[in-house]
Amino acid sequence: MKPSMDPPRPGYFGQFGGRFVAETLVPALEELTHALATIVPSAEFQAEWRGLLEHYVGRPTPLSRAHRLAHALDPEGDTIAELWLKREDLCHTGAHKINNALGQVLLAKQLGKRRIIAETGAGQHGVATATAAAVLGLPCEVYMGALDVERQAPNVARMRLLGARVIPVQSGARTLKDAMNEALRDWVTHVAHTHYCVGSAAGPHPYPTLVSELQRVIGDEARQQLLAQSGQLPDVVVACIGGGSNAIGMFRAFMDDPVALVGVEAAGEGLDTSRHAATITAGTVGVLHGAKTRVLSDADGQILQAHSISAGLDYPGVGPEHAALAQSGRARYLTATDDEAVAAAHLVAREEGLLIALETAHAFARLGSVARDFGAERGRPVRIAVCLSGRGDKDLATLMERGSS
Ligand SMILES: *Cc1c(COP(=O)(O)O)cnc(C)c1O
Repeated sequence: MKPSMDPPRPGYFGQFGGRFVAETLVPALEELTHALATIVPSAEFQAEWRGLLEHYVGRPTPLSRAHRLAHALDPEGDTIAELWLKREDLCHTGAHKINNALGQVLLAKQLGKRRIIAETGAGQHGVATATAAAVLGLPCEVYMGALDVERQAPNVARMRLLGARVIPVQSGARTLKDAMNEALRDWVTHVAHTHYCVGSAAGPHPYPTLVSELQRVIGDEARQQLLAQSGQLPDVVVACIGGGSNAIGMFRAFMDDPVALVGVEAAGEGLDTSRHAATITAGTVGVLHGAKTRVLSDADGQILQAHSISAGLDYPGVGPEHAALAQSGRARYLTATDDEAVAAAHLVAREEGLLIALETAHAFARLGSVARDFGAERGRPVRIAVCLSGRGDKDLATLMERGSS
């Protein structure tokens, strides 16, 4: 008789995840898997890591109550009971990415690695990795599509100031996907002494688990702060989804609670166009970046270019755990367009005095409809906690081009 269910496979979330990589990388991924089980939970690693988070990054980040935004989204007060913002914009470098970069570089050092490589799209993960490598004293090389190098001059300058070498990638469309391929190629060649710092909860096993372990500090703090500041758990937790690291970091702490989890993907110029990045909502199952997950691909299985006004959501895949959470129904995934994100950024600036990143603005763009839908389901106004993943200074030029709304 055939068993009715496959046994759980390590490195898989349901049918998603795994390790679709060259044989030469398997020993390094095994080493990292072992380190995740032994070094990461060790008292020594935790002490150094927590010390950096506190004294260098500035953690714990605050949890802010957003009274005026709640009122603007719900003037009658019949759908939103409370709105809370987890302030990752106040991390050093302005977003949650530094949590992961510092953790991975620290781990690499403990594994005796002598060199850090990373890929970056808009440069935000590159800047976080260059920062972590600088403060922990390791050389850093960042692969970046040549087109992105041109488009993201300020982040290229930042990385170079931080002592990193930026390597423009001339292949393919000369953007993120090509930079990822090139970083993997470098890693295959130099794997013995090089650590590949992956920037989101994506990539081959154990990266999705490692990154979510390093980002879970967001949700762990938020849960504690919510209980201390409001005395209750939220009804709904909301976060934007690029590769999915801020979202999984936020979700992890609430997984076993009666709390709804909502991720918001980038619908770009609309789901009825080819210019979006809504991998879960409008993608298919495929392999990208060494993992089986949901991807944007054409009829031949070729990975397509993603589009979003926010560079950090402009990724044609998604972390495999989100693909599984969508399939099981434990989390729901919605979308917001470029225009909706821009409007949300303007609203949050005026109502709360916060310039939020355009990535983050996708999560905020859905707060009104999330409150209405879950309020109707629960039959009362809901308490919402949203991950404010980063600050928007980097997006000023984009916002100015778009004009005021
Ligand atoms: C990079 C980035 C994201 C998207 O990445 P995730 O891995 O999905 O969190 C979201 N917000 C900000 C501010 C970012 O810089």
